[in-house]
Amino acid sequence: MSKKPLVSRVYKYKNKSSTFFCPLCSTERGITTSPRLTKKNMFQIFLTAIVLGSALFPFIGVKCFFVFFVVWGIFELAVRTDYKKQISCPHCGFDATWYKRDVKVARQLVKDFWVQKQGLVDQKSKL
Ligand SMILES: [Zn+2]
Repeated sequence: MSKKPLVSRVYKYKNKSSTFFCPLCSTERGITTSPRLTKKNMFQIFLTAIVLGSALFPFIGVKCFFVFFVVWGIFELAVRTDYKKQISCPHCGFDATWYKRDVKVARQLVKDFWVQKQGLVDQKSKL
């Protein structure tokens, strides 16, 4: 018996970098970002660092090159957060990043997701 996807008609992402099937509900998923910085991101980091660095140079001197690493760190964090947001399944709450790290946490996340979903349904039926 083949498992039927929970949602078979899904929103088709533009410029998606990869597609996969949710291991829990078999819905086709697409993600637009990768957890790594793109060349465009590196360019943005470089520009931001130059602008910030030259603005801070009169005050902190040569130390302003640290700004580059700070900006890099912020970008890296933003890209990863964005990726993480996309990786968790909007249909069943399955999070592959957590599943790799801690299966218990991943299970709890799915549970929470359904509790929340059920809560929303209950609220609607009350109205
Ligand atoms: Zn799913």
